[in-house]
Parts: sequence; structure tokens; C-alpha cells
Amino acid sequence: MSEKFDAIVIGGGPGGATAALLLARADWKVAVIEKAHFPRRKVCGEYVSATNLPLFRQLGIEADFQKVAGPPVKQVGLFARETIVSAPMPRMRESPDGWGRALGRETLDALLLNRAAETGAHVWQPWWATKLRREGGAFVCESTNKETGGANELQASVVIAAHGSWEPGALPTQPARRALRASDLLGFKAHFRGCRLPVGLMPLVVFRGGYGGMVHTSDGRVSFSCCIRRDELERCRRAAPSAPAGEAVLAHVSQSCRGVREAVQGASLDGAWLSAGPIRPGIAALFSKGMFCVGNAVGEAHPVIAEGISMAMQSAWLLCERLVARSKEGLTSQTLHEIGSDYAAAWRRSFARRIRVAALFAHLAARSAAVELLLPLFRLFPATLTRGARWSGKANEVVEQVGHFGPSRSIS
Ligand SMILES: Cc1cc2nc3c(=O)[nH]c(=O)nc-3n(C[C@H](O)[C@H](O)[C@H](O)COP(=O)(O)OP(=O)(O)OC[C@H]3O[C@@H](n4cnc5c(N)ncnc54)[C@H](O)[C@@H]3O)c2cc1C
Repeated sequence: MSEKFDAIVIGGGPGGATAALLLARADWKVAVIEKAHFPRRKVCGEYVSATNLPLFRQLGIEADFQKVAGPPVKQVGLFARETIVSAPMPRMRESPDGWGRALGRETLDALLLNRAAETGAHVWQPWWATKLRREGGAFVCESTNKETGGANELQASVVIAAHGSWEPGALPTQPARRALRASDLLGFKAHFRGCRLPVGLMPLVVFRGGYGGMVHTSDGRVSFSCCIRRDELERCRRAAPSAPAGEAVLAHVSQSCRGVREAVQGASLDGAWLSAGPIRPGIAALFSKGMFCVGNAVGEAHPVIAEGISMAMQSAWLLCERLVARSKEGLTSQTLHEIGSDYAAAWRRSFARRIRVAALFAHLAARSAAVELLLPLFRLFPATLTRGARWSGKANEVVEQVGHFGPSRSIS
């Protein structure tokens, strides 16, 4: 017999943990299946924009976030070739909130998932969701314990796919495995101590074959993260065959980018390099018959805009707000379809433009003729960076200041 829940959330990253927390708080019986042990580091620049602060308040984690996150990020910058420019970070209009800040994923993800568990979500960890099938009117999710190999089946009428976008798998919402391509973008990340990056500045880093970013994060470290084309990575590795891939990438970026070269001079690596990918920018299906996607599972923006955590958490909020509001009337297949359509429309209004803007920025960063043409413009008009950050959603209010969450019931 499989254990019955109101909702199963697959993946306990920022999108999944937010969904689980919001539903558990509304008195839903929620299961989260997360394949990794937390705390764990993750390829990510770790910048969390100020647009999340109203949501953090609703989730009850704002005070913890403010206590442990890195310094406020008040400047957006550009490090490309010999150019170093900066400009003010845009802010939400009429917002009482402060600035975006960066927080290590080992801390943020554990904080969110622990809070979901404390609120009543049942967390299966380290369990790997492997299959999903329909049985009667419900979903049955099969999962395997990554350590013991034990098997489990859970049942629910609602499934939230929050497994990210980087790993192929057999779930209907997971991407299919595809052949390697020279243009695949692979993600790298490392923490440094003793970096000379100015406090409060988050530069976009542009280099041959990719882009990246740097920012002061929690625990006195600087995070450096980037995406690099597979063919460029192979070239870097040929130039330094005995170096770990991450070191070869950093040597390549430092060589082509004065800002990074100067920032990491004398700095020491804190922990190992991480890699992931290929990343899968674009928009996937948002919902189907009681199965809903949030976070990267529905849409991944090129990380050039550093908005993925915000989109993951805020998309979970957009969905759960609708699920909770409608659950009082009973979740029939017709109601679930209406919730899905409404969620899809709200998602597109909130995020579709960012995904396009991020694709444009990534496209320009990858073309050396475009970089050549645009650099004098940024040097002359640094405020263009502020505008670009605004287009990327850094000042978009998605989550209202006051939420509607509280015990609801009943789901059926
Ligand atoms: C180089 C780089 C830099 C970035 N920098 C930033 C930044 O500075 N700021 C920002 O906001 N975003 C950034 N991002 C994007 C951000 O990391 C993602 O958008 C964000 O992590 C998406 O959150 P999520 O919850 O949707 O998915 P994830 O964070 O990927 O979480 C998915 C979870 O699901 C689990 N999982 C996967 N499959 C299964 C399964 N079958 N069963 C059980 N569990 C499963 C995984 O273990 C994982 O914990 C960056 C990305 C890259 C590549």
C-alpha cells in the first residue's frame, strides 16, 4: 500500500521547499522527495534578489536570511576584457525592503527545507523519485533510497515537479538525455577567500566562450560562477592538461578579463570546484492533469541574469497561492485544469520576458563583435547596466507584500 498525501513535491531545492512549506502551512499533507543529503553546495552564484524579501517574510525565514547572508549588493557591474564598469543596482519602487544579498546554497536550501519539515512536510531524503504513474484518479510516485536501495511508493492527487532542469530522467517532466554538443553550456562554481572584489558589487563577467558572475556571499567568501561552452572548455583543458577543469576555466577567464584577474589575485580557493550541466535555458510545460512544474523544471533563464532562485521560489508561490485558494472547493480534475491555466498565465506574465532578456544578454556576451561594439557604450553610459538589471527582473514585484496563507482544507 502506498502512503497517501495531498501533494508530492519532487525536489527539495528552493522551488520545491518553498512549495512544500506553503502547502504544509495551509494544512496540506505534503511529501517532499529529495535525492541529495543537505546541506550540500551547488553550482550557483548564490545571489538572491531583493524581490524575494516579501516572500521570505511570509515563509518566516527573513530574519535568518538577513543574519547569515553576505553584504547588501548595491552595485551591478561589468568585467569584460580590460573594461571594469559599475552602476547602481535598481530597487523595487516604493519598497520598504533592502537590497539583494548572496547566501551559500548549502545554507539557503537547508534553511528552506528544514522550515518546510518543521511546518509539517514529510521529507524523504536522500530518496530519488524514479517513476510516476497514474492509478485511478491519483499519481503514484516510485522512489529509491540512494543509500540503502530501498523502494517506496507515495500517492497524491497533486504532483509538483521541482527537480530542476539539469538532470535527465524517466519522470514525464524531466528532460530527455541528448547528444553532446559543442555549444552546450556547462556550469562551474567555486568559493574564494581573500578576494579583492569590492564589497557590494556584483559584476557580470564576459569572456570568450561564456559568461559568469562574482559576488560576496555568506561566511566571508566570494562566489565565482560561470557558464562555458563545451568546445571552449576543451580548449582550456588542452592548455592546462593536468589542472582540474575548474582551475583551467578560471585561468582562461582571468586571462581574458582584467576584473577577475585582479579580484582573484592572492585569493585562496575555499572548498572544491563544482560543475554541472549542460544547462537548459527555455520554457518547458507548466502543467498537465494535476502535475505542475515550478522553478527550473518549468523555465530556466540563462544564469547571466542571476534570477533562477527568485524564479523558482516565486513560481512556487504563484502556484501554491492558487492551489490553496481553490482547495476549499475540492480539487476536481476541472478545478486542477483551471488552476493550471491560471498559474501558467501568471507565470508567463512574471517570468517569460526575463527568459527572453537573459537569452539576448547571453547571445550578445557570446559574440565578440557585439562585445567590441557594446563596451564603449557601457563605459560611456554605465547606467545602461542598471537598466539591464531592471529588465532582468531585479525590481519586479511578483509576491505581494501580504500573502493569503493560513490553514485551509479540504482537498479531496
Ligand atoms: C553558473 C550558474 C550560476 C547561477 N547563479 C545564480 C544566482 O546567482 N542567483 C540565482 O538566483 N540563480 C542562479 N543560478 C540559477 C539557479 O541555480 C537555479 O535557477 C535554481 O537552483 C533553480 O532552483 P530549483 O528549485 O528549480 O532547482 P534546483 O535548485 O536544481 O533543485 C532541484 C532539486 O531537486 C533534486 N532532484 C532532482 N531530481 C530529483 C529526483 N528525480 N528525485 C528527487 N530529487 C531530485 C536535486 O537534488 C535538487 O536539490 C545559477 C545557475 C548557474 C548554472
